[in-house]
Amino acid sequence: MSDCRSALSAIRNNLLTVHRSKYAVETRLLIYLLERELDTRIVLIWIPSHIGIAGNELADGLAKEAAQKPPDMNIKVPIEDLMAVAREETWLATQASIKRDYTYKGIFYFPKFYDEKARKPWFSRINAERYFVTLINRIRANHYNLGSSLFRKNYVDSQRCECGYECEDLRHVLLQCHKYDDLRIKLDEDLRAASYLAEIDVYRMIKNRNWNLLYLIFKFLKGTGKII
Ligand SMILES: [Zn+2]
Repeated sequence: MSDCRSALSAIRNNLLTVHRSKYAVETRLLIYLLERELDTRIVLIWIPSHIGIAGNELADGLAKEAAQKPPDMNIKVPIEDLMAVAREETWLATQASIKRDYTYKGIFYFPKFYDEKARKPWFSRINAERYFVTLINRIRANHYNLGSSLFRKNYVDSQRCECGYECEDLRHVLLQCHKYDDLRIKLDEDLRAASYLAEIDVYRMIKNRNWNLLYLIFKFLKGTGKII
């Protein structure tokens, strides 16, 4: 019985590759020999915690004691454990370089959306079409295909909207532009149906991971016929 699920699954695993821990292989051999010797079956059981199980305190004590001793150079570290060290070092180096970059770029994105603890991208569990992901990423970065953004990067001469309003940004398209009045009525209905009555704040929706609301915004923006 063990509370270490990964160790148990490593022992159960039948694969033989260079990545296998030699201790998992040795344990399998021991189990095989014991079963043969005693003509019995050994069952590995995962238990969530050892608390209250006889001998646990003793085992804990021995483990603590061993941890205090100087390292035993005869113990071979499994390659997977070394991979974990390399992975962690790479992660920390990347975080450090991202933070260095922030001193001169990503000024909009960083304070609003950067999440140091996130080990996976925000869309790793999102099951939506690709444009949903790219659109949200563009909004997060504040670089999207509307006048204000294109003007800032010198792609167009003016940030004026086709309707005549001085600045075509996301807010204008979502809340004001007369070209999209029909779409906006539908969006308003959809948001009400989703019990959202406040003024549309896309950045807050992204921050709060309100994917169902953002999907309605996405539907609206898609309806404009522009790839934003
Ligand atoms: Zn407009």
